Amino acid sequence: MDYSNLFKGQKIDLTCPNCERKFKIDASLAFKRNSVVNCLGCSEKINLDTTDSRKKLDKIMKDFKKMFK
Ligand SMILES: [Zn+2]
Repeated sequence: MDYSNLFKGQKIDLTCPNCERKFKIDASLAFKRNSVVNCLGCSEKINLDTTDSRKKLDKIMKDFKKMFK
């Protein structure tokens, strides 16, 4: 099962570690390892694996997998 389909079109919150600007990114981005997004505020390249979003998403994924077992 491709879990990324469950999150299609959904957004997750991301906070730039550099300028602390909050913005939303496509949730599907967070499924790829080492996804990099550019901050809208300071153009910092943010590796999603180093942010809280990854942890948040992993938790959501875990809950999802439980539901589908
Ligand atoms: Zn920034």
